[in-house]
Amino acid sequence: MRPEILYPLFAGISTIKGIGERSSKLVAGLIGDKIVDMLWHLPSNIIDRRYSPRLTEAVPGRIITVKVRVVEHIAPKSRKQPYRVIVEDDSEQLTLIFFKVYADSIAKNLPAGAERVISGKLDSFNGQLQMSHPDYIVKPEEIDKVLGVETVYPLTAGITNKMLGKWIKQALARLPDLPEWQNTEFKQKQGWSSFRAALLAVHNPQRAADLDPSTPARCRLAYDELLANQTALAIVRQRVKKQAGREIRGNGLLRRKILEQLPFKLTEAQEKVLSEIYADQGQAFRMLRLLQGDVGSGKTIVALLAMLNAAECGAQAAIMAPTEILAKQHLETIQPLCESIGIRAELLTGRTKGKARAALLSDLEDGKIDILIGTHALFQEEVKFKDLALAVVDEQHRFGVHQRLNLSSKGNKADILVMTATPIPRTLILTAYGDMEYSKIDQVPEGRKPVDTRVVPVDKISEVVSGLRRKLQSGTRAYWVCPLVEESEKSDLAAAEERFASLQKIFGRDVGLVHGKMKEKEKDTVMEQFKNGEIKLLVATTVIEVGVNVPEATVMIIEHAERFGLAQLHQLRGRIKRGFEASTCILMYAGRLSETARERLNIMRETEDGFLIAEKDLELRGSGEILGTRQSGFSEFKLADMSVHKDLLRIANQDAKMVLELDPNLQTPRGQALRTLLYLFERDDAVKTYLAG
Ligand code: ADP
Ligand code: MG
Repeated sequence: MRPEILYPLFAGISTIKGIGERSSKLVAGLIGDKIVDMLWHLPSNIIDRRYSPRLTEAVPGRIITVKVRVVEHIAPKSRKQPYRVIVEDDSEQLTLIFFKVYADSIAKNLPAGAERVISGKLDSFNGQLQMSHPDYIVKPEEIDKVLGVETVYPLTAGITNKMLGKWIKQALARLPDLPEWQNTEFKQKQGWSSFRAALLAVHNPQRAADLDPSTPARCRLAYDELLANQTALAIVRQRVKKQAGREIRGNGLLRRKILEQLPFKLTEAQEKVLSEIYADQGQAFRMLRLLQGDVGSGKTIVALLAMLNAAECGAQAAIMAPTEILAKQHLETIQPLCESIGIRAELLTGRTKGKARAALLSDLEDGKIDILIGTHALFQEEVKFKDLALAVVDEQHRFGVHQRLNLSSKGNKADILVMTATPIPRTLILTAYGDMEYSKIDQVPEGRKPVDTRVVPVDKISEVVSGLRRKLQSGTRAYWVCPLVEESEKSDLAAAEERFASLQKIFGRDVGLVHGKMKEKEKDTVMEQFKNGEIKLLVATTVIEVGVNVPEATVMIIEHAERFGLAQLHQLRGRIKRGFEASTCILMYAGRLSETARERLNIMRETEDGFLIAEKDLELRGSGEILGTRQSGFSEFKLADMSVHKDLLRIANQDAKMVLELDPNLQTPRGQALRTLLYLFERDDAVKTYLAG
């Protein structure tokens, strides 16, 4: 249960005074729909209105706040001219300039002869001081309202900074004093204040330097967020490690037979990770290992060999893929190999129904199936193994941490191997997987040809299309990827549909379209047509299953490549890396490229090394223009910034481990406070699933 003290923070944003139906939608889109989300919405800038010189001494270009007397109004002589008001202090005159405003309202706000405080950006024109549209015009007694530092927040259309600032103030006012979850000594040593004080400080920057992510207040909050992340992961890990494992040491017969059949030799990297995996399997504790390897590095065969190790011991193994298409693809690779050595591998997905399903489940429970391949349908309760010894989770996208463990709970102390094709920089492994052991296939099989990657402006689209025509005529298949559009999924689809229509005019029935709004079945049909060549050009939104395997597809065109993150581009390009044939990837961009976008595209052109790309991706982050970060799963931090707070991550990792060692159920006062922290950062799944009371 969520601690009561947090209730006010988890109320909806519409409980804030001034947020009506319309603005609540806008705020939800920008920030989130709970009060707590508003707390994490950090200022992006300040406007310092404390500069209040005499006019003769004022420096043009700066924001000033001055008390002036209104001298006279000069009405425009034509529509094009602005309305002008001359004001002065005791040193000099200043002309206020207004375009397109009602003279009435100006006259009311600035009556001749009256004293006013105005604030805005000072300009100088032909030696005369000017200010267009002052930000504030108030009576002298209200000067305190203006003369200070204004916090500027990232905004969205339809919401002004004044509105949002007021609302966030209200949200902050609901922030209670929370129990301290940090180690007292550590906090003192860092010189950090309480969570509440830190959050208030971060929302009230007094100078530009206060916006820096390395201020003590920001560091404290980043640490809190990282501590929540690491504690949640440590809880999960603790549960797994607590359970004793079993020693899986097969006699190697099945594995030898398979290796003899393969038309290739394992790479050194594959051999190395296999020895790490076998060693874990042979130990008496449960394996919890992450296997990283770029697309095409040969993870499937590694997984199969580990599963056969279990089969050699008479036990079962399962491999779970994130989508049906990928599960089927695993089946196509694994089943024929297994058949030849008398091992039974079967597929179970949400679409396995009726009698077939019943028969499969009963065979599984009887131990007649050795290897089960499937989607998350494997999680269902009625799926029972006789003796599951290894669960492989192939996650092109990420499953939840405890979903992975659910699968292993079906087994008798089953080992867990998580495979990912997303190259993850070292620091991020810790945030995504905690202390999971990891192996890396850092080599692709020899003899593969590099992808010819080109960066092309969109004006060259007709040349791209004629090149594409030649390729298609010679029997090649190609992907045409349309980008995510920022605002909504609907416009994504519209963009893809438009492109589809225009390509259809050129290529007729050779073109197909696949997108996220399609039913699984429709998607499958189109993918099948692409696979068997009925369709030669596949227009897709980024939903194209990153793992689909269509060997004939060796061309990929990515539209608005500048909108994608590096990790995403790399994943997409992986689809056409066929190795022994030349393939081509065309990154089309529109408009003027920002510096980071240009750099991203250059990196893509220069390298195919996924790990290098991942490191670069991390370096280039924070520019706020990458659309793909959410999908890649690593943008989950609201306050921590991995390019700044890396060191805090390591400390949080140690801290979490120590706490759980001493207080495995989080029951001491600090443990209780940590529970509050987990709820505050919505990492409470681990608490609910694994902790008592
Ligand atoms: P991943 O799952 O890591 O993307 P796969 O396991 O699908 O990669 O392997 C990609 C292709 O490379 C498959 O066709 C596979 O048979 C082949 N392959 C795997 N290991 C080797 C190797 N050592 N030498 C040559 N080809 C290999
Ligand atoms: Mg694979």
